[in-house]
Amino acid sequence: MLEYTQVEEIGSLVDKARQVFDSNVLLTVQNRLNQLRNLYYVLLDHQTQFEDALSKDFNRSRFETSRLELAQVFGEILYVMQHLESWSKPQKVDYLPLSFGTTYSTVEKIPLGVILIIAPFNYPIVLSLSPIIGAIAAGNTVVFKPSELTPNCSTLLTEVLQSCFDYPIVSVVNGGITETQKLLEPKFDKIMFTGSGHVGKIISKAAAEHLTPVILELGGKSPCFLTSNCKTTKIKALLSRIIWSSFVNSGQTCVAVDYLLVHESIYSTVVQESTKILKEFYCNITEKSDFTHLIDRKSFKRTMTTLQRTKGKKISFGVSHEDTNFIPPTLICDVSWDDETMQSENFAPILPIIKYSSLEDVVSEVKTEHDTPLACYIFSEDPQEQRYILNNLRSGGVCINETMMHVGLYTAPFGGIGDSGYGNYHGKWSFDSFSHSRTVLKQPLWAEFLIKARYPPYTRKNRAT
Ligand code: NAD
Repeated sequence: MLEYTQVEEIGSLVDKARQVFDSNVLLTVQNRLNQLRNLYYVLLDHQTQFEDALSKDFNRSRFETSRLELAQVFGEILYVMQHLESWSKPQKVDYLPLSFGTTYSTVEKIPLGVILIIAPFNYPIVLSLSPIIGAIAAGNTVVFKPSELTPNCSTLLTEVLQSCFDYPIVSVVNGGITETQKLLEPKFDKIMFTGSGHVGKIISKAAAEHLTPVILELGGKSPCFLTSNCKTTKIKALLSRIIWSSFVNSGQTCVAVDYLLVHESIYSTVVQESTKILKEFYCNITEKSDFTHLIDRKSFKRTMTTLQRTKGKKISFGVSHEDTNFIPPTLICDVSWDDETMQSENFAPILPIIKYSSLEDVVSEVKTEHDTPLACYIFSEDPQEQRYILNNLRSGGVCINETMMHVGLYTAPFGGIGDSGYGNYHGKWSFDSFSHSRTVLKQPLWAEFLIKARYPPYTRKNRAT
């Protein structure tokens, strides 16, 4: 079982993180690279243990842990290590005529200090380690709070992070609400929170007490449009992409397709073909199958209630099992906007399908109901239609004729907008988010004869000509 950190120890853990930061152990790029390399090799040695841990925590499929979490972390560490030297170099900036060309100015990236990183349960390896990699790359120390809902994974993360570095640059605080609230009392230099909007507000309010900047990576309802111009000759390919996204990790993915908006001209084909794919992917699925379960009983009950209260036709090829929090992937057809499943993020293996007739109306409806989702998916072959949705619906990210793959790009920023959060990270964007851009101007003393014109008294000087 996960050992919670004693509440009375939390303050001194944060103080320790500050002392380690002040000792400048991560001042040089070489030292940061050494720590990232250590992390890489220790993770490599613990891959099976991570798969075992998450399998115990919520029957997480080993394939999902390996491909969607560990592979992503390995790729990002190598990418950051490859580029860190160049990202860290001070950038020379142009002088202004006002300084007579005597100044030499640069913008240098300096660490912010001590970063608090709070992670959710759903992808507990990558959503913890990706921000930690960025914070270390930028030279910060970290206080890290993993999710208490994945006790085996959090225990392993604690062991790994406390043993793999040459210095205690990452302190781990384990616990639930009480411990996290205590953790929010001291001052940090930045807080990065990934989780629900409800808790995001609690974090923001606590951070405001110290004027601490925050990155919030939140969730929301990500729509997927299948317009009249989507390629129905490739219907199997496009629906496979959608169904995979909705049900991978049992639907507990912040950027999962939360609901489908299907043009009336292709609606019946989409329902028919989706049913076939569902059967092909998840036929005779049970609680013993290699299919991730819901994280806890609360989530299971919430989802069952949503299913009961939503009126549309439900299609699935398995039976739910309360003892293990298993719900088989379920399509819900003929859903309307006021159905229960459309009121908040599903975060479960259910996929509502809504029929629409006008693209303009349906885009406007999405904006009215949910405004700024974390992701938006567009299946259409018509560039004008794609552009119409892009121009009229803001979202954290977009995929066209694809789902979720943008999240894997550590060469591009990832983050929300509006209700889905603010700030961004991944690769260079993490490095920038955890750095301060400091302008350093040097002026030689010999230039005094040129610049003395700025001193008072101003009599007779304050003229343009
Ligand atoms: P959560 O908000 O319940 O918990 C996240 C973290 O906050 C955990 O470490 C938890 O211990 C802590 N916490 C919970 N209640 C708290 C409280 N009252 N005070 C202080 N801390 C508290 O989220 P979750 O259930 O772990 O994750 C699911 C949510 O996260 C979904 O909404 C999902 O969309 C979102 N999410 C977003 C992203 C993203 O990148 N934008 C990624 C994954 C998950």
